[in-house]
Amino acid sequence: MTSVMWFRRDLRSADNPALLAALADGPTLPLFVLDPALWDPAGPSRRAYLVASLRALRRDVPVSVLQGDPVRRVVEAAQEVGATSVHIAADFGPHGRERDAAVEQALRDAGVELVRTSSPYAVAPDRVKNGSAQPYKVFTPFSKAWGEHGWRAPAGALPSDARWRHLKETVDLPDVELPEGLELPEAGEAAAIDAWHDFADRLADYDEARNLPGVPGTSRMSHHLKWGEIHPRTILADLGGPRGKGPATYRTEIAWRDFYADVLFQRPDSARDYYRPEFASMQYDDPGADLDAWKEGRTGFPIVDAGMRQLLATGWVHNRLRMIVASFLVKDLHVEWQHGARHFMHWLVDGDLASNQHGWQWTAGSGTDASPYFRVFNPTSQGRKFDPAADYIKRWVPELADVADPHEPSADDRDRVGYPAPIVDHQAERREALDRYEAIKS
Ligand code: FAD
Repeated sequence: MTSVMWFRRDLRSADNPALLAALADGPTLPLFVLDPALWDPAGPSRRAYLVASLRALRRDVPVSVLQGDPVRRVVEAAQEVGATSVHIAADFGPHGRERDAAVEQALRDAGVELVRTSSPYAVAPDRVKNGSAQPYKVFTPFSKAWGEHGWRAPAGALPSDARWRHLKETVDLPDVELPEGLELPEAGEAAAIDAWHDFADRLADYDEARNLPGVPGTSRMSHHLKWGEIHPRTILADLGGPRGKGPATYRTEIAWRDFYADVLFQRPDSARDYYRPEFASMQYDDPGADLDAWKEGRTGFPIVDAGMRQLLATGWVHNRLRMIVASFLVKDLHVEWQHGARHFMHWLVDGDLASNQHGWQWTAGSGTDASPYFRVFNPTSQGRKFDPAADYIKRWVPELADVADPHEPSADDRDRVGYPAPIVDHQAERREALDRYEAIKS
């Protein structure tokens, strides 16, 4: 029997249970569909990374690429090769679930079965439940139950006798032009495994170093995980049982990823709307020139501008900076989180609806485990604390490299190097944010 393996965000050959299930059925057509619903809103960094990742996958798996609505394209592909089954890793996002249900119906009408095996998560959404069989709404108990639930061991490597089918006509992968100065990390399964092995030397220090944006203290695995170039199962198996703070904290971060996927599965509306509905009635400002200044990294707050410029230059931002810049947009500029989340999704190579929208909602105070709204990040003291030597600021805001205090340049220094004055007074906006919060609390 012939089968189709429809790749989506599982762009690897090893530890890929859906691919193994397809190959177990017989000769397999490996397929990727460039879906305009996902391609069109993606920014150049995500598009370019996806294309690079598909090219890398093709070194091991001869993927045929089609373009268009998967509901039509997957059925056409299955019919062309006479497949009786189409294999996928389950998608739990709002768009993915709807799309897969529509594809499943169309395949059924054509006499082809859609088979879901595994997911992009260590523990798939809707599995971890509390004693009353309800999903968790708070991370810490979720994380404990998640650890107790456990996960499968990695699936095997790609069999050497894999038999492949091809489509007669496929589309060429497009060359994506990147804006000047944007440099992306290397894509693909081999790069993911190298990055993971490279991080092994830094894992012991992860618990401390992960908060310092000026040093390479985090793993930089998020884009590899996002595109499934490596599965969290593989990572968790390498981490083994508890052995020191570094590995334990790293395991907790993987649990956050699964938690947010679970939360989004339970509350698909939280991709767009406030997880805590009372926040919808808070007073926000219409986004205008301030939002543009934030996007372009010229707010006059060096640590904020460094983060925003890192995003535009690399398609990635350090977690500490994601929190600082998000807090600044919502609490200093009083702009609704959705505007910032959209900008992030446009540029982040690791842009993931669940982690991104809930990272934003957490910072905005409207999400699960919300950081208390009254805890407003002071961008300058965050910079001083987490980037004490201003290495990070100097890297991304190079005009501040030689000023006396890169965290808070004097007016003279700003004039001299052409760096803008702060667009707001942080203390005044902090009070304003708290007043607006008081109004919805009562
Ligand atoms: P590491 O510190 O090495 O963490 C290891 C892995 O754990 C990450 O690769 C990621 O898969 C997972 N992880 C770590 N922190 C979190 C977290 N808070 N939530 C969920 N998963 C986590 N992460 C994304 O993958 N995609 C996003 O679109 C995204 N948007 C975010 C937006 C905001 C406003 C915030 C505050 C956080 C966001 N995060 C997002 C989470 C986190 O910032 C990134 O996962 C992390 O910076 C990626 O770098 P790393 O791989 O070096 O992280």
